[in-house]
Amino acid sequence: MVSLNTLLYLSMLPIYRSECRDGGRRTIHIEITNACNLECSNCTRFVGHHKHPFFMDSDTFIASAKSLEYFPGLIGIMGGEPTLHPHFAELMKIFKEIIPQPSRRALWTNGFRYKQHKEIIDDVFEPHNIIYNDHNPDVPDYHQPLLVASKDVVPDYAERKKLIDNCWVQRRWSASITPKGAFFCEVAAAQDHLFDGPGGWDLSSDWWDKRPEEFQDQVERYCHNCSACVPMNKVSAYDGFDYASPSNMSKLAELNTPRFRMGSVIEVTDELLCSSYDEATNVRPWEHRGLESRQWAEGLIVQDDVTPTATPS
Ligand code: SF4
Ligand code: SF4
Repeated sequence: MVSLNTLLYLSMLPIYRSECRDGGRRTIHIEITNACNLECSNCTRFVGHHKHPFFMDSDTFIASAKSLEYFPGLIGIMGGEPTLHPHFAELMKIFKEIIPQPSRRALWTNGFRYKQHKEIIDDVFEPHNIIYNDHNPDVPDYHQPLLVASKDVVPDYAERKKLIDNCWVQRRWSASITPKGAFFCEVAAAQDHLFDGPGGWDLSSDWWDKRPEEFQDQVERYCHNCSACVPMNKVSAYDGFDYASPSNMSKLAELNTPRFRMGSVIEVTDELLCSSYDEATNVRPWEHRGLESRQWAEGLIVQDDVTPTATPS
């Protein structure tokens, strides 16, 4: 059972603010596809569960980029694996036109099709804003499972809400846009797609200018089905299994997702939980690649012999 005795109460941050990047400026992602050439365990985009991955159309991409024109942080092009998008080059040209400042553009990639798109990638992104992680199984990499529903393992609403308000993903990481709209959290966006949710907000020019009290609709809809907020041990990204608690297991069974059908989801309740929040703090789930991996990654040669700045994501 999780102990909340030592939990320091922190409230969620406004969407445009973050604890970790650029002195408090957040990254917001535009997810142009949730297809990927890899299938890591406990992927934040639930790759392997989608029968029909999405590929964002250009009108939605234009509306997405325009909605972030005045957002003060970094705008990331994200997947899945974004270079898999059949119109990747055209979208990146549009991106450069709408967001003319190079320092505001970033790309998250595992290096797939890097050589094919080298010219446009080098034109649109500064080397230090190409965030590369090839998920090479020779390098230790860990993911916190995301399908152990907090409502299944922390039944008390008030205690659960305290954990949700402290969620490290919301505090440190990213909001996002998918073809279904804008979301305060990228994991919420992925969950909405997986479980056929109602979608996100319209792409207004200020959707990202929301304070916590203004995005509780999404918090209530998604966070109680998610485990990022629950102190939990990380598992290897390469162990071949996702972990899900009973309520999410039932939903995966009902959807008969490809990964569920393959027997690649293990049902758990509190087996992976840490006994205290302090212990979980030591786990530091945002450091999913350790120091050793980071050192290994320096100077790493990407597929197709192209070398971007090696910044593990
Ligand atoms: S490379 Fe990234 S998006 Fe692709 S399966 Fe692995 S974690 Fe998911
Ligand atoms: S609990 Fe899940 S959905 Fe909610 S903020 Fe954290 S990562 Fe996002």
